[in-house]
Amino acid sequence: MSSLEQTLSIIKPDAVDRNLSEEIKNEFKNNGFTIKQEKKVHLEKSDAEKFYLVHQSKPFYNDLCDYLSSGPIVVMVLEKENAVIANRELMGATNPSDAKEGTLRKKYGISIDKNSVHGSDSVINAQIEIDFFFKS
Ligand code: UDP
Ligand code: MG
Repeated sequence: MSSLEQTLSIIKPDAVDRNLSEEIKNEFKNNGFTIKQEKKVHLEKSDAEKFYLVHQSKPFYNDLCDYLSSGPIVVMVLEKENAVIANRELMGATNPSDAKEGTLRKKYGISIDKNSVHGSDSVINAQIEIDFFFKS
């Protein structure tokens, strides 16, 4: 079964800082995603804490929120058949050193924290994350 879905993608500060935004956007387009919405933002730490609330009990939560708010990010709504899983596959494993050849995190990621991209992990969370950034 396939269905047209949307997912939220973020180009994280390490990749924006290295001027990789256009290259990574082209990776999405070349892999059949349509960029439906896009904006560049610099989050306050309090916003990063809300975005990553699901991770609040984790030991890496504070560093993660410091990091996501450390510089500009590019936030996109991506659309494709089965976009959520397709984007997770294109991104690769959380830790770039575990990510498969050809995935974005393998190509661009520096470390488990500076892993260049975020992608929603389920259809439900995709809608929550899209609303977080784009609901007017
Ligand atoms: N993260 C980290 N240390 C860890 C696990 C995760 O810094 O031990 C960061 C990593 O950048 C990851 C983010 O926290 O992208 C969210 O973690 P999650 O498990 O949701 O991974 P993802 O869904 O991004 O692959
Ligand atoms: Mg996740």
